[in-house]
Amino acid sequence: MKNILFIAPPAGGKGTVSDKLVERCGYKHVSTGDLLRDVDKSSKLGKEIESIISQGKLVNDEIVLELLKEKLKSFSKDEHFILDGFPRNLKQAEDLDSLLNELDLNDYTVIELDVPYDVCLKRAVGRIICPKCHKSFNKYFVKPKIEGICDNCGSLLISRSDDNEDTFKNRYDTYLENTAPLVEYYKNSNLLVKVNGIDNVIESVESVIHND
Ligand code: AMP
Repeated sequence: MKNILFIAPPAGGKGTVSDKLVERCGYKHVSTGDLLRDVDKSSKLGKEIESIISQGKLVNDEIVLELLKEKLKSFSKDEHFILDGFPRNLKQAEDLDSLLNELDLNDYTVIELDVPYDVCLKRAVGRIICPKCHKSFNKYFVKPKIEGICDNCGSLLISRSDDNEDTFKNRYDTYLENTAPLVEYYKNSNLLVKVNGIDNVIESVESVIHND
């Protein structure tokens, strides 16, 4: 089983697919969005991060790389991980190449989830997340069993500050400008597989990771 890097537009389903793969295949899920949202919001750094996220922009590369490095270092050799949300630009892709080489974790495949803008927008505005265990639900598609309460840990679900229509547009523009060019980057290294991000997503992703 290979490690996975997901490339997808905002609210394209990276987190949801990752959760399923954690359940079904035992992957470790590393979401740089979660790592950033977990930084103490009463600290100066936490406030800066929160402000950037709520504008739909990218947080400074070095800050994200440092958080990611700490997380990846905590895994043992026989654990497989999913990177959800990193890399987000070319510089991060190059830094990631070096980091994975340094940690001897460079057996991975890159999966692009193909999801149209309108579907992503609807997923974003309906999304509610658990601030404690990070599980994600949706007011329209994947409702929690009890309204407003996390099925997994019982915490109160919240909406993300960047999941409104205006910020979503900024996040999508940021994606097109910075992240979408990574598709070519990974195609050139023969690492990229494109998957339909709406129908039979888990089955398609599983067939990629098991056939690799
Ligand atoms: P996500 O949870 O992946 O949707 O990310 C939410 C927000 O966190 C993004 O819109 C960015 O502001 C920030 N973020 C997450 N990952 C990165 C990254 N690799 N580089 C810079 N900012 C990031």
